[in-house]
Amino acid sequence: MTVKRDYYDILGVAKSASHQEIEQAYRKLAIQHHPDRVPPEKKNEAREKFKEITEAYAVLSDSNKRSQYDQFGHAGIDGRYTQEDIFRGVDFSSIFENMGFGGGGSSHFEDIFEIFGGGRRSRQPRPQRGDDIEYSLQITLEEAYNGTEKTMQFYNTETCPACKGTGAKSGTGMKKCPTCHGTGQQSAGFGGFFTFSQTCSKCYGRGEIIESPCGECRGRGKVKKGEKLTVKIPPGVDNGTGIVIRGRGEAGELGGPQGDLYVVTHVQSHPMFERHGDNLYIATKIPYPTMCLGGEATVSTIDGFVKLTIPPGTQPDKVFRLRDKGMPNIHSSRKGDLYVKVEVDVPTKLDGKQKTILQELKKTFEK
Ligand SMILES: [Zn+2]
Ligand SMILES: [Zn+2]
Repeated sequence: MTVKRDYYDILGVAKSASHQEIEQAYRKLAIQHHPDRVPPEKKNEAREKFKEITEAYAVLSDSNKRSQYDQFGHAGIDGRYTQEDIFRGVDFSSIFENMGFGGGGSSHFEDIFEIFGGGRRSRQPRPQRGDDIEYSLQITLEEAYNGTEKTMQFYNTETCPACKGTGAKSGTGMKKCPTCHGTGQQSAGFGGFFTFSQTCSKCYGRGEIIESPCGECRGRGKVKKGEKLTVKIPPGVDNGTGIVIRGRGEAGELGGPQGDLYVVTHVQSHPMFERHGDNLYIATKIPYPTMCLGGEATVSTIDGFVKLTIPPGTQPDKVFRLRDKGMPNIHSSRKGDLYVKVEVDVPTKLDGKQKTILQELKKTFEK
């Protein structure tokens, strides 16, 4: 077994090298050792070298992996990451674009990895879970308070009953993909200089395509399906609360499970109440004499009315808190509070008697 060389040595940089220095060092070495730049008999050697410098770059250009490496050496990396993980997430595109490899082709991790002959990537189509669906459900504040049941109508997909998901017309089968000649791979490159293979865009790597597509699903293997579903909304939901209903999303591929349905609630704004979290806010008008002398006022709550005691000499816009008169908390049995702001009710129409009394009152203040 060969002993792995130090990553900093491989790139020829100091332990204290900046990200930029590491990138520059890698770029320089990558040009020098690129497998496509050496004579055929040296290709394997160059390939190994290229892989070595690329691995060093992948680790040292990632601050997490670099600090693991600095602390624990190769053991900190090899014990924690698979080879695939080491390369994943590294943005090689900036490197290769700046190297003048432009002119098409991507340079994502998988393509880079392909150069190394890494066989981790499975080319066989595998069953895949269907996509999730999001359904936006409008409810009133009262419904959010009490909880409710809502019937939703939406579309998802189901495996095509005519072809059972194969996408092929009954009695027909698959044929070799004419684009990739059955390999599932196509070659691509950076301007012809740097070639690698990528998944065939015609057959998506399967190597075969449908001979004659199913008429029901046009070869997709799935058909649209209308669904009707009643969902229970618990008390206390707020804007953006998500309720997951398993297995009601889009149909899976090749026998994979169906995706999920995410019901997201949107609580409509209320003409009287404002809501912040579990608390509710309301403004109410109180007659001037009640504010002066004290008394009782009837205040609306979300599920009825409540008597509020107004102390003598209450000032305009004073806020009273009514405990537990807010919204139920969705995660507990607690309830929020209701905050009541009392505003002075200044009458615009007065009858004769009220006018006389107020004139008398006015005089008492003018002394
Ligand atoms: Zn079909
Ligand atoms: Zn193909």
